[in-house]
Amino acid sequence: MIAQNLELIKLKITENTSLIAVSKTKPIESINEAYQAGQRIFGENKAQEMSAKHQALPNDIEWHMIGHLQSNKVKYIAPFVALIHSVDSLDLLKEINKQALKNNRIIPILLQFHIAEEESKFGLSLEESEVILSSTDFSAMKNIEVCGVMGMATFSDRPEQIRKEFQNLKSIFSTIKNHFFMENLNFKEISMGMSGDFQIAMEEGSTMVRVGSSIFGGR
Ligand SMILES: *Cc1c(COP(=O)(O)O)cnc(C)c1O
Repeated sequence: MIAQNLELIKLKITENTSLIAVSKTKPIESINEAYQAGQRIFGENKAQEMSAKHQALPNDIEWHMIGHLQSNKVKYIAPFVALIHSVDSLDLLKEINKQALKNNRIIPILLQFHIAEEESKFGLSLEESEVILSSTDFSAMKNIEVCGVMGMATFSDRPEQIRKEFQNLKSIFSTIKNHFFMENLNFKEISMGMSGDFQIAMEEGSTMVRVGSSIFGGR
């Protein structure tokens, strides 16, 4: 079932878009099924759960942190995490930089933006991100690499609303790219799109889609 779902999703995903299979709350066996079908990138939203799964599963899996991350949990994933999508404060950046240094590595991250109508969703505003990126604190961080942006659209049945929010994230990406990362080829990722809206997200320039329930079933 998981292998078939994965095949169907992959048919719909364009060549230059990466598929993050969101395996949060799902057991090792389900992840293994997707792994056997060829999937190598998995997304989790809890640090300890991700760490346990990392230990139990093959080494060539890329683990992506997609959920809100508390600073005191960064240490659990710093040795191995491939990309943190959900960075939304300077304090969190500082902690990631510190733990990356401890592990003698550079940790790739995305800045998460608040693009939805709902108040509950985490994320920065464009202004907040510009304050962070202009700060001397940020310039001093040598062990993080900012690779792009992430956002979640409103949970809505109005495709035009969702599309507008994705267009907004794309425009935030371009503004930040022009102001801070013009020469940096690694600043290139736009992580947007989930099971319900990844096709709209791809039409609006997504480079990474995070798909859970369409692969693994409901949670
Ligand atoms: C759970 C989650 C997803 C996947 O959602 P589905 O609707 O199951 O595809 C994507 N992104 C984030 C940040 C999530 O927390």
